[in-house]
Amino acid sequence: MEEKSIFQMILDKEIESEIIYEDDKIFCIKDINPAAKIHLLIIPKKRIETINDLQEEDKDLIGSMVLVAKELAKKYEIDESGYRLVWNTNEDGGQTVYHIHLHLLGGQKLREF
Ligand code: AMP
Repeated sequence: MEEKSIFQMILDKEIESEIIYEDDKIFCIKDINPAAKIHLLIIPKKRIETINDLQEEDKDLIGSMVLVAKELAKKYEIDESGYRLVWNTNEDGGQTVYHIHLHLLGGQKLREF
């Protein structure tokens, strides 16, 4: 495992980024390279490299991340129009940052797949 993930560096204020939500376990930022009009990242403070590394003890954390995503969708007024939640895992899944994060995408009609 590399020493620090880019998200850990943001959390530690070593890289500048606007933190739009934070609690004791989770923080959220806007994606630097948005794939939709609204593209937010919900990130656990605890470093877990991939979804493959999740443990039973992480159940509550993952549930909390989804609940935060739901609240942000409401705050950004895309709850009714619709949105997509995405977890990319490993190379074929398109994962580039090995510190799990939930993508919240919306604000426009998203491409079907
Ligand atoms: P993934 O490809 O699923 O691992 O997603 C990583 C995401 O992090 C990508 O959508 C990147 O655009 C985003 N990202 C990388 N560096 C930063 C940063 N400094 N601030 C905000 N988002 C970032």
